[in-house]
Amino acid sequence: MNKLDLLKKHFGYTSFRSGQEVIIDNILANRDALGIMPTGGGKSLCYQIPALMMGGVTIVVSPLIALMKDQVDGLNESGVSSTFLNSTLSVAETRQRIDEIIEGLHTLVYVAPERLLTDSFYTLCKHVNVKFVAIDEAHCISQWGHDFRPSYRDIPRFIERLDERPIIAAFTATATAYVIDEIKALLGLNSPYEHIASFDRPNLFYKILKPTDRLRYIKGYLTTNFIEGSGIIYCATRKTVESLSVKLKAQGFSVAGYHGGMDSESRTRIQDAFMMDEIAIIVATNAFGMGIDKPDVRFVIHYNMPKNMEAYYQEAGRAGRDGNKSDCLLMYAPSDIVKQKLMIAQNSSSLERDRIQYENLQKLVNYCHTNDCLRNEIRQYFGENIAVNNCGSCGNCLEAGEFTDMTLEAQKILSCVYRTGQRFGVNMIIQVLRGSKNKKILDWKLNEVSTYGIITDISEGGLRELTMNLIARGYLTMTTDTYPTLKLHPSSRAVLKGQEEVLIRKERIEIKDKKKKQKQAKRKTTLEVDPVLLDQLTRYRKEIAEEKGVPLYVIFHNAALEEMTYYMPTTKEAFLEIKGVGEKKFDNYGVGFMKLIDQFILDNKIETSSLMTRLSDRYSEVLLDETLSRVEVVPQTSGKDRYELTYQVYKAGGRLEEIAEKRGFTVPTIVKHFKKLEDQGEVIEWQRFITREKIDQISLVIDAVGTSSLKTIKEKLSDDISYTDIHLVLAMEIK
Ligand SMILES: [Zn+2]
Repeated sequence: MNKLDLLKKHFGYTSFRSGQEVIIDNILANRDALGIMPTGGGKSLCYQIPALMMGGVTIVVSPLIALMKDQVDGLNESGVSSTFLNSTLSVAETRQRIDEIIEGLHTLVYVAPERLLTDSFYTLCKHVNVKFVAIDEAHCISQWGHDFRPSYRDIPRFIERLDERPIIAAFTATATAYVIDEIKALLGLNSPYEHIASFDRPNLFYKILKPTDRLRYIKGYLTTNFIEGSGIIYCATRKTVESLSVKLKAQGFSVAGYHGGMDSESRTRIQDAFMMDEIAIIVATNAFGMGIDKPDVRFVIHYNMPKNMEAYYQEAGRAGRDGNKSDCLLMYAPSDIVKQKLMIAQNSSSLERDRIQYENLQKLVNYCHTNDCLRNEIRQYFGENIAVNNCGSCGNCLEAGEFTDMTLEAQKILSCVYRTGQRFGVNMIIQVLRGSKNKKILDWKLNEVSTYGIITDISEGGLRELTMNLIARGYLTMTTDTYPTLKLHPSSRAVLKGQEEVLIRKERIEIKDKKKKQKQAKRKTTLEVDPVLLDQLTRYRKEIAEEKGVPLYVIFHNAALEEMTYYMPTTKEAFLEIKGVGEKKFDNYGVGFMKLIDQFILDNKIETSSLMTRLSDRYSEVLLDETLSRVEVVPQTSGKDRYELTYQVYKAGGRLEEIAEKRGFTVPTIVKHFKKLEDQGEVIEWQRFITREKIDQISLVIDAVGTSSLKTIKEKLSDDISYTDIHLVLAMEIK
């Protein structure tokens, strides 16, 4: 059977999603592969289809022990014989499964990484033909990633011990360019085919909130916006989980708390109840969710800011896996930063690791303060190039236009940082500006600087917001050590000289605003779903799921049920047209569902001819979908690659102009690359390209005439100073 037949037969789809097919083709052509695909992007098909076609056994390494059973149940339901080995099995069960694998009964074997180097697993692998090893959640191998799992480092040794090297494919949903490099190197991937899908999740609505009363906001949100499906509320600490879940329960919401301090039995019980739709909302720490694959999570609210962008992306990404509109709301308060910093300090391992964590935290803080498109900020963080400035569907883009001019205040803050010698952190600067008589201020004689007490009409919170915004925009930088200090970035000159305006988004913390309502109105599904029939089908699905002891979506996804109520299929041919229904699922459940539908049509005297029209429209839609999915999606060269190449050329030596020529860019672009590389932690020796004397001369002129016209600067300088020199100085930090 070819891959499309297998796709239809086992998984019920008629075409592959973006990226899947090319990964599968490469694996089948015996090439290693690396797939970075967002949650819900269909990673698992990328190894399940090749496993079916390669023969022998495919080993799937997965850290998600709690989820393995569901994954394997789902596969067996689809007619793909599979099994798993992990610590939840008894010795006898393990023994039996090993026998089955040796007998060749299973195509896929899911295994926890801790088991790879055990003697029993080694012996097992000697008896079967391991053709293919798929590594799920591959970012766990990197200690700079957010889910480091030491036993992932055993994978290469396990592979070495096999008689023949299998094809290796690694998959993950979250990895920065740095982590991607680590995955490739540590797993020893052999010039892999790389597919890096966009990190964009168009159905997710991102929004940053700074409510004064978080609880009130959540109550309002749940009352007005939350109608069906499930939701997750993430909190930073166990204590918050407990108090928030109690408060929400008292308001009558269907809520349970979940955190790592609870015994594993209660945790499993709550997780199961959530999966079975018996509990609608989970309030949890980040202990909840690794591997939670519930398709209809309609919102993920962060009650506190998480630890970094990757964690945020992953946690928020648990919303909307079914592709329907879902909300990702991040509540932010300055105290969250303190909380996160404390956690870093408490779990301190090495200075280097702490530094990276502080830096990663700062990037998320910047995200909370940006004026720009939130969707783009996330994509750029993961190294994507952005073509459109405004996505039109995130909190920031929807609220564009509501800005207030804070240029003057920004100038005051920047010059206060400068006048106090770029030695102090945010709190101190705010106190100086507000004219505090704090002892420290007086000790340092900061009451004598010219910016002391020059802002009296803005609250402390407002000033903090503004300062953080200046950091987020890059006018100010904040060091990432124990006592972070603020420094001016060269780009702040433009603000100080009044050449750039600083516009700040007005705070929007109202629950009932018009935009929300408009958005909700647009959120109607395109299909007219019959609620009565849907209710019958949903209840029937629940019965089967309970009987079989599997999650609901293993039977059919909600989307499939919705389609059934619209198309009302009563023949096998029609039923197989429903999204996610394959031969195997039809054989197992089709008749039962069709009986209900048939009865419904009879009871309600529905005209079958109108149903026929719906179905034939559906055929043409599918055809169109298939055509679209065949259009080749060219992965964008990631920013990381560009900068990396520039860095290689830089390290090889040569003048700036030569580097520019080799890279095919202009000098100013190369200088920008250098800045970017510095931001990424590389060391650029600027002095290699320009002398100290020249720097001083140029700095003096810039101070006198500003930065708006390069020509003016050039004219004021001696002839031996080139435009390249000026670009360099503009790019360097003010020292
Ligand atoms: Zn946007």
